[in-house]
Amino acid sequence: MSLQTSAQTLDGLALAQRIKEEARRDAAELTRQGAPPSLRVILLGNEPASETYVRSKSRAARECGCLAETIRLAAGSPPASVLAEVERANKDSSVDGILVQLPLERGHDPARVFDALSPLKDVDGLTPENVGLLHQGRPRFVPCTPAGILALLDAYEIPIAGHRAVVLGRSEIVGKPIAALLTARDATVTLCHSKTRDLPSICREADLLVAAIGRPGIITLDFVKKGAAVVDVGISRLESLEQAPEGLRKSARIREALQTRGRALVGDVDFDSVSQVASWITPVPGGIGPLTVAMLLKNTLRAARIRRGEPAASTN
Ligand code: NAP
Repeated sequence: MSLQTSAQTLDGLALAQRIKEEARRDAAELTRQGAPPSLRVILLGNEPASETYVRSKSRAARECGCLAETIRLAAGSPPASVLAEVERANKDSSVDGILVQLPLERGHDPARVFDALSPLKDVDGLTPENVGLLHQGRPRFVPCTPAGILALLDAYEIPIAGHRAVVLGRSEIVGKPIAALLTARDATVTLCHSKTRDLPSICREADLLVAAIGRPGIITLDFVKKGAAVVDVGISRLESLEQAPEGLRKSARIREALQTRGRALVGDVDFDSVSQVASWITPVPGGIGPLTVAMLLKNTLRAARIRRGEPAASTN
């Protein structure tokens, strides 16, 4: 990998716009052929971050010409009511894609939702069948965030095959699938989590570092090899400078966001310091977040084509 003193920032927003444009053309074609593609989102409770994500996913789906309906279940609704909504959407012939917004409230077992979802409508790629297909190298729906990561790496022609990749976080929705996808692309992958010992030294071996743990600014200079590509998936919301770790307190962007809006979105990576040693880095916001939404549209269109019995374009 080439060595630079200051990293190139990977523009997720611009790539997401291009993907959404393609999705718009695709949705228009499907609409001309019959009915618009449709997405059903199931949202449990009123957690502000989930509300924001669901709003932006639904808006993006509508902007690209899909139907998007959100079913809201009151906070504290029992697991059976979530499963009943999943079942209703499974059976509804007007619904192409179903997304159950995660995380669910305490007391809900996400695995029961994954088991209940129709694999052909599972646009987040979380059912056992779709996870199995992904791990066998023949994905039907690639989970949206990992699909977005790969699309961004490819758009900037960042090398993967033969390189060392370290993934931080082992969630079903990001860590595990991106580790599987990078393995399929011939990277040598290490998957780390909260019990991993000596995280900085493992991370320093990475040509490609993917951070998906949700700890603001935890990835500092100590974790990054010179010339590495650093992908920051984490999204945390700060409401005061005191909530920020020391490294982030100096960030002009974060200070300004707090002053003007009273809150700042930050990633797992200390962007200002890490960008001095990395060759490529994703920003937060404007990196992986918009791509996650764009890939959801792509998966919804794929679900629509599959359900109409048409050949779906190859996965991301
Ligand atoms: P998650 O379910 O919140 O799990 C966090 C993972 O990080 C777990 O595997 C945990 O290990 C690990 N972890 C926590 N603290 C750690 C530490 N100090 N050192 C090493 N590993 C640690 O994960 P997620 O749902 O993937 O979310 C992770 C972050 O990504 C969050 O900030 C979330 O908001 C963000 N996110 C962003 C997008 C996007 O579109 N940009 C999409 C999804 C998620 P254990 O397994 O051992 O507990």
